Amino acid sequence: MPAASQAIFDETYENYRAYLNPPLARVMKLSGSPVEISAQGCTITDHTGKTYLDFAGGYGVFTLGHRHPRVLAAVREQLDAMALSGRTMFNPIMGRLAKRLAEITPGDLQISFFANSGAEAVEGALKLARAATKRTKIVATVNAYHGKTLGALSVSGRAYYQTAYAPLVPDVVHVPFGDLDALAAQTGDAAAFVVEPVQAEGGVRLAPPGYLRAARQVCDRSGALLIIDEVQTGLGRCGTLFACDAEEVVPDVMTLAKGLSGGVMPIGAYIARAGAWNAAYARAPLMHTSTFGGNELACAAALAAIAVVFDDDLVTNARERGGELLHGAQTIAARYPAAVAGVRGAGLLVGVELTNEGYAGTIIPELLKRGVTAAWTLNAQQVIRLEPPLIVTAAQIATALHALEEAVGVAVARLGALPPAAVGR
Ligand code: PMP
Repeated sequence: MPAASQAIFDETYENYRAYLNPPLARVMKLSGSPVEISAQGCTITDHTGKTYLDFAGGYGVFTLGHRHPRVLAAVREQLDAMALSGRTMFNPIMGRLAKRLAEITPGDLQISFFANSGAEAVEGALKLARAATKRTKIVATVNAYHGKTLGALSVSGRAYYQTAYAPLVPDVVHVPFGDLDALAAQTGDAAAFVVEPVQAEGGVRLAPPGYLRAARQVCDRSGALLIIDEVQTGLGRCGTLFACDAEEVVPDVMTLAKGLSGGVMPIGAYIARAGAWNAAYARAPLMHTSTFGGNELACAAALAAIAVVFDDDLVTNARERGGELLHGAQTIAARYPAAVAGVRGAGLLVGVELTNEGYAGTIIPELLKRGVTAAWTLNAQQVIRLEPPLIVTAAQIATALHALEEAVGVAVARLGALPPAAVGR
C-alpha cells in the first residue's frame, strides 16, 4: 500500500480509537474496514483506490446511490440562494416538499413536520399521538427498531439498547410483531400503535400478510393512532413507493428519513392526517419544533430525489432487481444449509439469516475483500442485510451474488459446522 494511503488509514483509525469510539474502532479494524474517501452511484472508493459495490447502502439512505447528479445540482443551486432557514419567514422549499409528500403518500396524509433524522421523526410522531388523543400509552412491537433518542428507544424492542437508560418513557407496551390478538388486547386505551411494515433492523422480518390492514381496523376501533415507521422502507425500497402501499393501508402518521433526500442531505419527516395534527396542534403551532429541521438544502435534495424516483421508475427497478437478489441469495442458501438458515426480503431489502452469527463475522469481511459492502442488522447479528441503491443494475446484483457465494463458502470451510443459534433473538 502506498505510504500516503497507509498514513490516512493510520490517522483515521487513531482518531476513532482515541477520540470517537475505541471499541468500535477495534471491531472495525478487525473486520478489515478500510477508510472511505469518495463515492459515486453504487460505488464507494477507499483510501487505497479500491472500489466497492455498496450493498449496505447506508442502511437505506442511498436510494439513488451516492451523489446523484440531479440531487447534487438541486442542492448546489439552493446553496447559492440560501442554505439554512432564517426561521422568521416563510420557506418556499419546505412548503413545496410538504405539498409533494401529501401528493405521494397514501390516502389523506397531509401535514408534514421536518426533522433531521429517523429517530427525530419518530419522536415527533409519538408526541403528536399523545397530544392528539390525550392518552399516554404507546403500543410497539417486540424486536422493533425506531431509533436511539429516549422516546424512539422506548418504543424500540431490544433490551440490549435500553437497560442502561432505564427508566425509559413510561406507558409503553410491546406486543409480538404480527400478533393481532395481543395488539387488540392492548390498544383499547392507547394513544398509538407504532410499527414498521418490515422490521429491518430486527433482521428483515416481514409483517404477515394482512397484518397492517388488520392493525388499521384495530386502531380504528380503539381510537389509537396508527403510526407506520417507513424510515427505512419508504421511497421505493421495498418495491412499492411505501411499504404499506402493498396492503393499501393509510396510517394516521407516517415517518420517513433515510432515503427521503436521495442520500445527499440528512432529513427526517413525519406526515400526518389533518384530523390528527389539528387535534394536537390547531392552537399550538410552536409545541414541537426543530431549528435545522426542514432547512432549504435538505428540502431541495428531497424534492429532487422524489422527482428522480418517479422519472426513472426506480420503484419498478427495486422490485425487479430485488427479485433477482432474493432469488440468487435463496439459491446460495440452498447450497449451504448448515450456514444459511433462510433468506427473506421485500424489494431491495434482503436479509440473509445465518444459523450462527459467527458466520457473519467471516462473511462480511470476505465480502469486503471481494469489493462488496454488507452489514449486520442492529437487533439481529445473525442476519446480514443486502440493501443496495434502487439504481442498482442486474450486472451489479450478479457480481454481489457471486461474491456472497464465495464468502459463504470461505466461512463454511473456515469455521465448519457452528452450533445453531436461537433464531430471532
Ligand atoms: N426507524 C427505523 C425503521 C429505522 O430503520 C431507523 C434506523 N435504522 C430509525 C427509525 C432511526 O433512524 P436514525 O438512525 O436516522 O435516527
